[in-house]
Amino acid sequence: MSILNVATPAYRADEQFRLFAESVGRFLDREAQPTTVERWREAGIVPRAFWEKAGASGLLGLSTSEAYGGTGGDFRHEVVLMEEIGRRGIEGWDVTLHNAIVAQYIESYGSEAQKSAWLPKITTGEVITAIAMTEPGTGSDLQGVRTTAVRDGDDYRINGSKTFITNGQNANLIIVVAKTDPSQGAKGISLILVDTEKAPGFERGRNLDKIGRDLADTSELFFNDVRIPIENLLGDQEGRGFIQLMEKLPQERLILAVQGVAAMEYALGVTLDYVKQRKAFGKAVVEFQNTQFKLAELKTQATIAKVFVNYCVGEHLEGRLDSATASMAKYWVSDLHCALVDECLQLHGGYGYMNEYPIAQAYKDARVNRIYGGTNEIMKLLIARTL
Ligand SMILES: Cc1cc2nc3c(=O)[nH]c(=O)nc-3n(C[C@H](O)[C@H](O)[C@H](O)COP(=O)(O)OP(=O)(O)OC[C@H]3O[C@@H](n4cnc5c(N)ncnc54)[C@H](O)[C@@H]3O)c2cc1C
Repeated sequence: MSILNVATPAYRADEQFRLFAESVGRFLDREAQPTTVERWREAGIVPRAFWEKAGASGLLGLSTSEAYGGTGGDFRHEVVLMEEIGRRGIEGWDVTLHNAIVAQYIESYGSEAQKSAWLPKITTGEVITAIAMTEPGTGSDLQGVRTTAVRDGDDYRINGSKTFITNGQNANLIIVVAKTDPSQGAKGISLILVDTEKAPGFERGRNLDKIGRDLADTSELFFNDVRIPIENLLGDQEGRGFIQLMEKLPQERLILAVQGVAAMEYALGVTLDYVKQRKAFGKAVVEFQNTQFKLAELKTQATIAKVFVNYCVGEHLEGRLDSATASMAKYWVSDLHCALVDECLQLHGGYGYMNEYPIAQAYKDARVNRIYGGTNEIMKLLIARTL
């Protein structure tokens, strides 16, 4: 039962989504119990075995068509999965990046051979994916990537380094953003599929030590004269990478907004439970008018966010979500999410600062949402272009 009483989108009345949510919930309650998730946080990675179990339980390849071994669902199924994960506070298992971002690049732009080779394995979890855009020297300014993929006979030779790459330790298929024409800016960028098991010269660097989302294996990657067959270019011509990225980034931003709303619901839920049982001055903390007013404000703000995000999901399902509106959702929800977890932590007093309390973890996990998927400053630039 959600703490936010927002009318569910019409599609959710369809029995298949209720059943799917229940089956995802059962899987997570069985395989990702809090003690298990804590072990993953300590290890800094979600084990491959869990990905494979998720595949066997129908959680992977959600929006991949059945013709390529997927489950034949769409973004609505991804939303259900994100909500079930978010409601349990399991921040950092980046399955939606795998399902709704990388698999979608391959399905939209890949050749028949690429789709047949990779999509079935993405659905079983045999293949875990990543997308490597960011480099030590450039993040927001994607046109400035310095990784090169220079044609050499029937191969590309890839040189460069990437950082902050989600699923970087687990991934065995990585979409690498590289310049096939280093003399150009955006027009020189291409996306190349790197099968890490067939890429001598490819190395994984550190699994980076972050302040939150500890169970995500966010990593450095190095490419040292890595030879990749030219058939691994995504799309039928070089120089299309920037456009491909721009086409897919609105969905990525919407995903972050959906996850943000689910995480806010989780934070409100754990806070409400806490203030009901914690006593001060002889009464439960929830009985103070300040607590009630704060929670009333937060519930109102989170409700407004959910209504807007549901609207954006609806627009996206109709193929109408534009980049500026997706950017509004990403920036506004992530700002609100950070403010909300801060207030929720405050209502926990000193316990909120203790790592063993879920709100402390939620507070740390939230912060990156204002940074990745394009910083909130970049979101405002995109919105400002429409003024
Ligand atoms: C946990 C985590 C996971 C990530 N996962 C991935 C991943 O899977 N794949 C991937 O490729 N990347 C990933 N990233 C990278 C992320 O997308 C970048 O960190 C982000 O895009 C910002 O780039 P940057 O860190 O280089 O910051 P910079 O671009 O150096 O920005 C620094 C500051 O300057 C501001 N700024 C920059 N340009 C402008 C401008 N024109 N106007 C106003 N302000 C500006 C920024 O908003 C920011 O506040 C991840 C990052 C983190 C932290």
